[in-house]
Amino acid sequence: MRFKPVTSIQSKDMNAEILAVGSEMLTPDRVDTNSLFLTDQLNQIGVEVVAKHVVGDDRDRLATAMRLAMGASQFLLISGGLGPTEDDLTRDALAAALGRPLIFNAEISEGIEERFRRMKRVMPEINKRQAMVIEGAEILSNDRGTAPGQWIAGEDCTVMMLPGPPHELKLMFTRECMPRLRAMVPPLAIRTKVFRISGMSESDLDQTIAPIYKKYENPATTVLAHNGDLQVHLRARCTSESEAEALLAEVGDQIDAALGERIYSRNSDPLEVIIGRKLKATGATLAVAESATGGGLAERITSVPGSSEYFVGGFITYTRRMKTECVGVPEALLAAHGAVSKEVAEAMAAGARERAGVTWAVSITGNAGPTADGDEAPVGSVFIGIAGPEFLGSYHRIWPSSDRPRVRAFAAQMALDMLNRELGN
Ligand code: ATP
Ligand code: MG
Repeated sequence: MRFKPVTSIQSKDMNAEILAVGSEMLTPDRVDTNSLFLTDQLNQIGVEVVAKHVVGDDRDRLATAMRLAMGASQFLLISGGLGPTEDDLTRDALAAALGRPLIFNAEISEGIEERFRRMKRVMPEINKRQAMVIEGAEILSNDRGTAPGQWIAGEDCTVMMLPGPPHELKLMFTRECMPRLRAMVPPLAIRTKVFRISGMSESDLDQTIAPIYKKYENPATTVLAHNGDLQVHLRARCTSESEAEALLAEVGDQIDAALGERIYSRNSDPLEVIIGRKLKATGATLAVAESATGGGLAERITSVPGSSEYFVGGFITYTRRMKTECVGVPEALLAAHGAVSKEVAEAMAAGARERAGVTWAVSITGNAGPTADGDEAPVGSVFIGIAGPEFLGSYHRIWPSSDRPRVRAFAAQMALDMLNRELGN
């Protein structure tokens, strides 16, 4: 195996760790989302996040986690636990981990008092805790809350202490931390390329392209799968834009050649956007008839701004009666083949096309589960019907899942995929 040397990355040891502080994130009810935002921001300037931690409101555990992270990485970003109450322990823990004292800062205290005055309230005494600053720290102003953040330049590690509420953290980080970080980190050009793929499984996709991307450490390649939608992300990090573009082209062209027409998007546009563009270009119109997805297909189509130029509407025909009354599926057909069948899918599409007076109509009928409830079709069985000018056809898939939301999402994705294929290039 040939490894391309990653000579162009200068910031190799520009690694970061993120520590999310808060016992609530150790419950089934809350997740740490701040770290996703922070990771995205750091990646943009070429800093990799190498570890994330969630630690509850426990001073000793926090201090231990902080010490370990500071010993291992160049940056430590801490979020949460800067509030005024007893369980807000981040300041204390970090002071202990650094072996530095906390010093009362009268100016911050005055600022918090002023904030309370503006809200016609008196600052409770406990808020003074928020004015305790680690010796040597720079203050990061918080325009959206009381707790200021702190920037501590240690010997081997720079620590950022940020508030927990996401809207406070985001503003503080972009305004206060990013400019400081940019000044510390060598300039880096990052370029990305996204392919979106349909009509193959995640493992088939990976098997096809792994021999290509494994030869390269730069660009980094990630394969993402979500409800039947597959994406390949390439991310090149170089000292110049032209170098990054060249690397993307080198690897991207090989992936493109290997996947061919299974790639439906080379610029990260989703199917509904691509379909919209094709319909608009030819002045064609679209309608849907949905059973199993109950409007999910129309939801995706209408999520595109300007979709009213080509999408006229849809029929949600959940029961047999509505399939007959709204889109004219013959009762005899339903009785003979069942509601989840090729024949009914095609009749729904043809009926929707005729009654809505459109160029193209797409139908979905299926059993989304989780139980088969007397339905003759197995759980996960979905038929997609497509009716167009001189075309009437259908597709069948059985998703190996009894997870109702997943089957419904897969069905909508498949319907869009099939329509996109019928529309051609
Ligand atoms: P406050 O002064 O509001 O107490 P704080 O800095 O002490 O601020 P926390 O008490 O830790 O922050 O968290 C406040 C709220 O912010 C939490 O209830 C939660 O909703 C949100 N929050 C905290 N940490 C995170 C995180 N890592 N990801 C997403 N949301 C978070
Ligand atoms: Mg708090």
